[in-house]
Amino acid sequence: MGTKITSMEYDILLKDGTVIAPSEGLNDQVDVAIANGQVAAVSKNIDPQKAERTISVSGKYVVPGLVDIHAHVYVGVTTWGVAADPACQTTGVTTIVDAGSSGWATFSGFRNYIVQPTQTRILCYLHISGIGLVYGPVGEMLDLRYADPGKVADTIIKNRDLIVGVKVRQGGAQVGDNGVEPLKLAIEAAERAGVPVMCHIGAGVSLPEILKLMRPRDVITHCFQGRGDSILDEKGRVIPDAWAARQDGVIFDVGHGGGSFSYDVAKQAMEQGFISDVISTDLHTGNINGPVYNLPTTLSKFLHLGLSLEEVIEKATIQPAKAIQRDDEIGRLKIGSPADITVLDLLDGEFEFFDTHRKMFVGNQKLEAIFTINQQTITECVTT
Ligand SMILES: [Zn+2]
Repeated sequence: MGTKITSMEYDILLKDGTVIAPSEGLNDQVDVAIANGQVAAVSKNIDPQKAERTISVSGKYVVPGLVDIHAHVYVGVTTWGVAADPACQTTGVTTIVDAGSSGWATFSGFRNYIVQPTQTRILCYLHISGIGLVYGPVGEMLDLRYADPGKVADTIIKNRDLIVGVKVRQGGAQVGDNGVEPLKLAIEAAERAGVPVMCHIGAGVSLPEILKLMRPRDVITHCFQGRGDSILDEKGRVIPDAWAARQDGVIFDVGHGGGSFSYDVAKQAMEQGFISDVISTDLHTGNINGPVYNLPTTLSKFLHLGLSLEEVIEKATIQPAKAIQRDDEIGRLKIGSPADITVLDLLDGEFEFFDTHRKMFVGNQKLEAIFTINQQTITECVTT
């Protein structure tokens, strides 16, 4: 690796694919050449004679490495955690962001035992609760003593290479009678560290009250959840508070999860023009074997809901990279940058999808990852 021993100009050439890189305004049939682990050329008709290895990707889609900003990978320590490499390497995800599995008290374990030995790029939101999401059955913010904004901010400041923001879950099951107090504490920590908050919404806490507290660039996750207070009013109209938050620059993320994606809410909201900024999975032990499975399957559901292929790729590459404020290095396919690429196939057929209310819908297209390239390493994804 590093210095080349051949006279070839390029190490890898992806030939005859369609490149979709919304970050660069690209959606065209062009070749991509990689040299010394970097994207060296993106243009039509690159000569295979110049490449050590040419891979035909005719009929396939070449996109920036997929970014999933809501997942749970603190395996072995939390009830939610799935192993990152097997989940990501089979599905084209090259950056996965753990959404609050670790709190400040358990963060060094997350760094040393999860991030360090894993090949997939892992970043995280640090939970406002010091214990993070170690034990699913009991809410992590039923007791406000678990939140220490000073310790959270200090941990973020010392670990900016990995931590992208503060996570808080604002459902009744997580906060009990504490209302939006956990969110206020999360914002306090976030302000001290200068990072965004990712706020989970669910039944049991007033959504307008939550939305009023959210700041520009903070993230609402589970935006199409359908239990209790959703973004729709009783007549199915998107509530003014949600439009106002969006206007203010709050980012809305899908965070599909095991209980947080209602097909009906998504459909009604999208018909009114309320489209999420980011599509993420909230992958965890309770949904990896369905209904979520993986990010390409989640994206396929949004193709069925009417988004274009370019739109879903944008919402799983550059948009999540912006949400975590890493869009200078992640979510792009840019000449001179380290190669971070996913190659996708778009299958035609009849595919059954499920939301988290056991509603089944049939799509006629399904995305599947074929392989990823991380600098010079090609990883085949297992297709089913
Ligand atoms: Zn989650």
